Amino acid sequence: MSTESGKTKKALLGMSAQDIAVLLPDYPKYCGAQIYGFLNDGRTFAEMTSLKKELRVYLDENYVANPVRILKTFEGRDGAKKYLFALTDGNLIEGVYMPHDYGNTLCLSTQVGCRMGCTFCASGLDGLVRNLTVGEMLGQVVAVNRDSGGSSKNRAVNKLVLMGSGEPFDNYDNVLAFLCEVGNEKGLNIGERNISLSTSGLCDKIVKFADSGHKVTLSISLHSPFDGDRSALMPVNKAYGIDELIRSAKYYFQKTGRRVIFEYTLIRGKNDSDACARRLAELTSGFPSHVNLIRLNEVKENDYTAPSADAANEFLAKLQRLGVSSTIRKSLGADIEGACGQLRRRYAEEISE
Ligand code: SAH
Ligand code: SF4
Repeated sequence: MSTESGKTKKALLGMSAQDIAVLLPDYPKYCGAQIYGFLNDGRTFAEMTSLKKELRVYLDENYVANPVRILKTFEGRDGAKKYLFALTDGNLIEGVYMPHDYGNTLCLSTQVGCRMGCTFCASGLDGLVRNLTVGEMLGQVVAVNRDSGGSSKNRAVNKLVLMGSGEPFDNYDNVLAFLCEVGNEKGLNIGERNISLSTSGLCDKIVKFADSGHKVTLSISLHSPFDGDRSALMPVNKAYGIDELIRSAKYYFQKTGRRVIFEYTLIRGKNDSDACARRLAELTSGFPSHVNLIRLNEVKENDYTAPSADAANEFLAKLQRLGVSSTIRKSLGADIEGACGQLRRRYAEEISE
């Protein structure tokens, strides 16, 4: 919603072609489908030149095309590009675009802030501000496509990871509606084979999601194989302990046939011991899964530090000796405040100085 000149403007991106047609009873029905296509191509109303001028003016006066606007971009040394987006109510979110040979991936946000309170993460420091709408999730993809060139036949972004700020399963209904909408052939057409979703481990939602028929790659942020230590890093563990988390992960595999990815951010002295490697191997054995190690992106708001690259490689070697399928994820975009939530905070600090 925008409150420009005191008037509330609704975003059209996120609405179906039929819903758009209903808003325009004086125009032929096919206008709904046309506008839907243009919105997904990232056009402004002024650029929808095959529509009558009076319709373009009417749309511009009453609606917003994309509720997500690129405020700033930051290019990383590694080819990653970080985006700071502004929403129509002034809230800020962020995303990272990572072009690769095997697919151009956008890491997008699902909430403004986050209420899960993980102690190493910058996104949760100020708590949850609000959920993102379907249009605001689509809008991030549309804005990056437009910024990166490409055409409606050959769009820049073809893979998505729901790993920006926010807990996707804390915004469950909108995230599921987004997954349906982003796969629409007449829209962005990104199928679930090309989508990963990362959760801090809301077990009831993992089970519900497994039963929903959606089949994305599920990443679970584990970060410690011991309940006490995990609860200290991730308060969500007090509600859903590790045993229940592993049961839900196995259930997700049974229902979808997709191996589960465990995200494991290495924090020096907190979760990088030999005992951690052994317990992690026990927990993840017995069903198809993969452990993704990430060296902590240090944030200035806490005292956690990352292990050295050598120590991280040694932890990986231990896991592999124990038979765990595992890799270290290159910390993309670390030089551009790549960790979740850091950029938005830094920007908010800068403008308040
Ligand atoms: N809320 C979801 C998805 C967003 S966070 C979740 O927690 O899974 C995406 C990933 O970034 C998670 O695995 C999270 O634990 C990790 N992360 C957050 N802050 C980090 C930091 N400072 N360094 C490294 N990884 C971090
Ligand atoms: Fe939220 Fe994920 Fe950050 Fe935890 S790691 S505070 S769940 S965004």
